[in-house]
Amino acid sequence: MPAKPLRSTLATIHLSRLRHNFRTLAERASASLASDAPRPAMMAVVKADAYGHGIVPCAKAILEEGKTLGIETMLGVAFAAEATPLRAAEDMPDTRIAVVTPPFAHGAAEYCRLNLEFCAASRTTMQAFSAEAAKTGRVLNAHLTLDTGMRRDGIQPHEALEFMRSVSTLPNINIHGICTHFATADEADKSYYYKQVRIFTESLNALRDAGFSFRYIHAANSGAIAEASPQANNSALFTLLRPGIALYGYNPSHELLNPLALQPVMSLTSSIISLRRLPKGEAVSYGCRYITPKETTIATIPIGYADGFRRGLTGKAQVIIQGTFFPVVGTICMDQCMVDISDEQFRVGDEVILLGAAQAPNGSENRITADDWATALGTIPYEICTGMTARVPRLHEE
Ligand SMILES: *Cc1c(COP(=O)(O)O)cnc(C)c1O
Repeated sequence: MPAKPLRSTLATIHLSRLRHNFRTLAERASASLASDAPRPAMMAVVKADAYGHGIVPCAKAILEEGKTLGIETMLGVAFAAEATPLRAAEDMPDTRIAVVTPPFAHGAAEYCRLNLEFCAASRTTMQAFSAEAAKTGRVLNAHLTLDTGMRRDGIQPHEALEFMRSVSTLPNINIHGICTHFATADEADKSYYYKQVRIFTESLNALRDAGFSFRYIHAANSGAIAEASPQANNSALFTLLRPGIALYGYNPSHELLNPLALQPVMSLTSSIISLRRLPKGEAVSYGCRYITPKETTIATIPIGYADGFRRGLTGKAQVIIQGTFFPVVGTICMDQCMVDISDEQFRVGDEVILLGAAQAPNGSENRITADDWATALGTIPYEICTGMTARVPRLHEE
């Protein structure tokens, strides 16, 4: 066990919840497919340090859960360098890792060294990768990436056949996957999403007619997996799923017709570092934007925007202390923030929950999630999780 970090501000990563979310995704996919349909494989997306949760322990927990469930599981990252800690980790030498954004041609050596699967989206890059792979005696696996409407990367569908004809014979490259990415799978209006599914399916069929086959056919992000159902468009699941945010406990948007029952994997806690009793009418923090409305106690908490407790939450955030909500008051500083605890008799060292849940004095549960922060900030939980900075120690536990 790693030593408990010295700093009182701490992100606890609950790996049992990560496993729960993985199972929930697998179950949703199974439930939406015919009972005799093969179960799709999983590419767990662990880019951006597992959305801020710590890539190595999260990857290990996910791979273990996949093994337990008998689901073929691989990992997805956004950039080759993100695979370095995975390759350096013990216990998972044979893990398959794909980089889901297309590489530069000059990246070939790194992909070979780290044994990474890559997005096939440019002929020049494919040639460079083929040459480098041949030099090192490796065969690199690739996934043909189609731009069906995201307009971010990939080959245009009408050029896919010609592209495959020109690159499929390149030595030391095995194009065993075909994929695309959805722009609106998590929105209430599904028309554009269905259009992307149709374009992708048509391209796939045309390539098959021309004699190309793919072991991994994939498009479904968290939104598409959540929205799959026997009634709806479950064909979007194909043979491999690519969930990200749902693994970490958040639905991708509030518009889902069929949200998943997920558990937030990260909780964030700190503790009171000092207390001061102030008369009515005193100003608190930078800009003197909070004036005490009565005689009150202000508690200082050692967490600020340099930790990811965003300054934009000033005037909007709450914390939970001993089960009760209290407002964060005055401007959130870089390293600290202040909480108005009124006449409560809390002490230095008492725990403060910034993200997480606690039993309220009346027995119900009080909870603060990254979704709450995101709503207050006009953003999405993705940005909250990935915005938790490296200064916050992560403690991984079951
Ligand atoms: C980030 C990403 C995902 C995961 O998306 P979520 O919405 O987090 O499920 C899947 N595929 C690609 C290509 C991505 O970039």
